Amino acid sequence: MSREFGFETRSIHAGTQPEPVTGARQTPIFQTASYVFHDADHAASLFNLQTFGFVYSRLGNPTVAALEERLASLEGGRGSTCVASGHAAQLLALFPLMEAGAEFVASTRLYGGSITQFGKTFKKFGWQCRFLDMDDLEAVKAAVGEDTRALFCESLANPGGAVSDLESLARIAEGAGCPLVVDNTLATPFLCRPFEFGADLVVHSTTKFLTGNGTAMGGAVIDSGRFDWSKSRRFASLSAPEPAYHGLAFQETFGDLAFTTFSHAVTLRDLGAAQSPMNAFLTLLGLETLPLRMERHCRNALAVARFLETHPAVAWVSYAGLPSSPYRGLAQRYLPAGAGSVFTFGLKGGYRAGARLVEAVALWSHLANVGDSRSLILHPASTTHRQLTAAQRQAAGAGDEVVRLSVGLETAADLIGDLQQALDSLP
Ligand SMILES: *Cc1c(COP(=O)(O)O)cnc(C)c1O
Repeated sequence: MSREFGFETRSIHAGTQPEPVTGARQTPIFQTASYVFHDADHAASLFNLQTFGFVYSRLGNPTVAALEERLASLEGGRGSTCVASGHAAQLLALFPLMEAGAEFVASTRLYGGSITQFGKTFKKFGWQCRFLDMDDLEAVKAAVGEDTRALFCESLANPGGAVSDLESLARIAEGAGCPLVVDNTLATPFLCRPFEFGADLVVHSTTKFLTGNGTAMGGAVIDSGRFDWSKSRRFASLSAPEPAYHGLAFQETFGDLAFTTFSHAVTLRDLGAAQSPMNAFLTLLGLETLPLRMERHCRNALAVARFLETHPAVAWVSYAGLPSSPYRGLAQRYLPAGAGSVFTFGLKGGYRAGARLVEAVALWSHLANVGDSRSLILHPASTTHRQLTAAQRQAAGAGDEVVRLSVGLETAADLIGDLQQALDSLP
């Protein structure tokens, strides 16, 4: 579908068309593991990567491919690979770039699960992750060099409401000859398109706003197609001859589709984190209303954040859409249509007040997820960050007094009314 069409049109149409055999207008769920070859030559050319087509659903599936094309269109990228979860997307984004002993640099302000994945589990592959405060651009510049495989940040960080200076980080990555990888989960391409600011790869947990109703796990890696992997010896997976495919080199053979082709033909083949066609179908449905939903999410979040700032039980509110946020300037530059709907606030009553508040609300759901049509509330210190020491929680933006909200699509006055009665009930 043409890039000339508007974002709303592409949210509904990109990657899909009426199904040619039956005329079915909605994208079918191709619930199949395998695909019949036309003949022996066709099979051989598919296996040699000389023809694009479907072989086996671990490598590719038509419903998942429709989602891949739609996400690439919405982000303004060249190609995309959908996988089983957001965490699988992060693994898939880094796998072609990394090897044992190699290092990448990531922001300290990442989703907690990403910090654990990068800092602990990836270490078992011999991948080193150096965490840095990416607000400190000088420190980032000093830390990266010709051995750095990637710079990784979130456009809008979960949960602290921090906004990354994408243009500056992209310049630093370019200077070091490595790609900038941006987790765009909380912003979505409706609010921010990192490729327009120089990012090279975008990752998503499609579990969140893209699907939009808490029904389907999924993840995606989108490639801008702009990074030349043969510029440096560092990216041998993409630039050197691949023995399993008769010595073809992905960059040389596939050009701006090198990363995406490698992700299907090698990474998904061998790591196996394929997305199910049912989940891709649910995410395609969700994307149809993404622009409408994100507008309402942002409007409701701003109304709730403004209300919280006025309540006497609340110590502070960290929402990049508020004039009081230190990230206000960056938000206006990178997220002009709204600062999303996930943010934190602090209670004067500390740990006990946070633990009571999540029980005192009625309309808000107390659970660990974000990006649902329903409004969600969480007290990180008593749940997701329970295993950490008080000092570690503070550093992670999950101190005892912190409450995280994911503001949904309900009537704003109902959300505020429920929070008000719960806050008023605190001792
Ligand atoms: C949820 C989330 C992830 C992980 O995604 P899963 O789909 O849960 O694996 C990664 N990054 C961010 C910002 C998230 O919110």
